[in-house]
Amino acid sequence: MGRLVGIDFGTTNCSMAYLDQGKPKVILDKDRYKTIPSVVYYYKKSDEIRLMVGRAARSKFVENPFCTIHSIKRFIGKSFEMEEIKQAQERYYYIIEKNEKADSHQQDIMIKINEYDMAISPVEIATYIFRYLKQTAESFLKETVDEVVITMPTTYQTRYAQAIRQIAENVGLNVVGMLTETNATAYAFGYINRGDHTIAVYDLGGGTFDFSLFRRVPGGYEELATLGEAWLGGDDFDYTIMQYLIREFKNSTRNKRFADGKVYKDGITLTNKDVLRAIQDEAEKAKIALSETETTLIHVSKVIPEIDPSVDLNLKLSRDVLEYVVSDLVEKSITIALDAQENGFTLDPKLKLDALLLVGGQSRMPKIKQRLRETFGDIIFDQILPEEGVAIGAAIYGNVLKVVQKRKQEPQ
Ligand code: AMP
Repeated sequence: MGRLVGIDFGTTNCSMAYLDQGKPKVILDKDRYKTIPSVVYYYKKSDEIRLMVGRAARSKFVENPFCTIHSIKRFIGKSFEMEEIKQAQERYYYIIEKNEKADSHQQDIMIKINEYDMAISPVEIATYIFRYLKQTAESFLKETVDEVVITMPTTYQTRYAQAIRQIAENVGLNVVGMLTETNATAYAFGYINRGDHTIAVYDLGGGTFDFSLFRRVPGGYEELATLGEAWLGGDDFDYTIMQYLIREFKNSTRNKRFADGKVYKDGITLTNKDVLRAIQDEAEKAKIALSETETTLIHVSKVIPEIDPSVDLNLKLSRDVLEYVVSDLVEKSITIALDAQENGFTLDPKLKLDALLLVGGQSRMPKIKQRLRETFGDIIFDQILPEEGVAIGAAIYGNVLKVVQKRKQEPQ
């Protein structure tokens, strides 16, 4: 029998962990990264349609977003008519369409790639990602991986869980357990901290936000409250920064004359899709850099090629300005966290939080930590890294299940 691996299948990134002689460890991909982008890219080579998965696929987004399929997790187990799908249609470059031939209303979403006149189901795309995860884990561990625990969003539906189980089984993975992402994080905490405790998990990833409260009970965790937002994550931060950069550029071009001979009284609004994608990409890089440094430079060349090919976007962005620009998003997450805490308090008025755990890449932003400290006190537990907690917790939970299973099989 092979090794059990915990899989955090995220909207933006996946990560995996396992237990090495009882100690949780994170699996690295071939380039030694801890996360694997949940992205599949379709391309043509020698008249054949091929695909890339993970980091290589993600790097193709700016070049060809119509063939770069990301955030597929949002569509698993969903039907085309759902509100969430409309939101995705507005935001994503690739085409989302209804499969008119689908016999039920449950799995009727297709991703259309016009360039190759093909349509693929979200389940098929997720299958490629899971196959890649299995291969990555096996080449890292140098052994077969056939048992997994997979984490799910706090708002998952049965249809989602069934589909994910099926996808994993299709690539030869036996799903020994499933649990929510925040619950898995609680297990990662429980591994380090024995004894009774009540904790909160603030999970802000690329696409979604969740906040949950858990109390340690014999054998696991009791969820006291949970609240989430399907469209609040790092992508929204990038989009908001991009809008700010577009506004700043417009202001800087006001009443100026350009190579086309015209004077733009109100300034120039950037509309070129290739340029906007490049700005969004730079926005994300700047945001990540500003988690470490106080200022960063943003540069995108030739932003108005039709008007004046010599004009670039150059801007110095400071951490203060970034925090101001995205403050509504930060505050929205804090409000949801407070509402969840209040729900927990209603259930148990004696509730007192012992620790607050942060997972999801966007929770690395210093302003978020500051606001959480101001709101919940100095209880942030920083021994679990935001990219690792969920996968590590899944691996630990898997181990707990195996121990229970073994005990049951032992003669009394
Ligand atoms: P996840 O889905 O948990 O991998 O989170 C991905 C999101 O986290 C993306 O929007 C990233 O831009 C964001 N992110 C990653 N690292 C950082 C960082 N150091 N500071 C701010 N955001 C980050």
